[in-house]
Amino acid sequence: MIIAIDGPAGAGKGTLARRLAAHFRLAYLDTGLLYRAVGHAVLAAGALPEDPGRATCAAEALDPAALDDPALRGEDTAAAASKVSAIPTVRVALLAFQRRFAATPPGGAKGAVLDGRDVGTVVCPDADVKFFLTATPEVRAERRVKELRERGLEAIYARVLRDMNERDARDRARAVAPLTPAQDALVLDTSTLDADAVFKRALRHIASQNSA
Ligand code: C5P
Repeated sequence: MIIAIDGPAGAGKGTLARRLAAHFRLAYLDTGLLYRAVGHAVLAAGALPEDPGRATCAAEALDPAALDDPALRGEDTAAAASKVSAIPTVRVALLAFQRRFAATPPGGAKGAVLDGRDVGTVVCPDADVKFFLTATPEVRAERRVKELRERGLEAIYARVLRDMNERDARDRARAVAPLTPAQDALVLDTSTLDADAVFKRALRHIASQNSA
């Protein structure tokens, strides 16, 4: 079983993805980490994330073992990620890894949950179940601030909201694989739902898909 979860930052994708992966014993890939790793590598080399040559080289040289690096979680890395992710050759370089993960999930798992921006539309268009999570920008920024603070990082609400809006606008407007729901995705607005409620709705949807 392949489950695709897309949506903007802070909509609750990661929480839902981890819970579904644990429930169904599936492997989990946070595809945003790949773009963050590329953005981070470009910044660390003193280059600009908009530089297609440098960003593409970093994507081609990406070591998936480096995805655990806590430095990938910061907001500067997120902004760099959204800039490198608009470069088509970066997306091509990262596509094969994501598709391989879905086709042959690690640890002998019988399937995978992938979350990101284009999983249901581009990476796994044949996924068995697709979700597109949304929430108001204010709710998403509040969640993001909480998450950053829990990780011990500094976070100012107004700045997080502004950065998130800029990032979402870039992700929605880019020419290749823009952030948009797949036609067959269940769109869930999580603004007034807690993690348990989102999980229950997702389970109901999966059950209805399997019995259809
Ligand atoms: O999910 P996360 O917020 O970590 O993603 C960081 C950035 O990576 C996003 O803003 C987006 O620009 C990019 N991304 C993408 N496609 C994905 C996952 C993330 O373009 N499948």
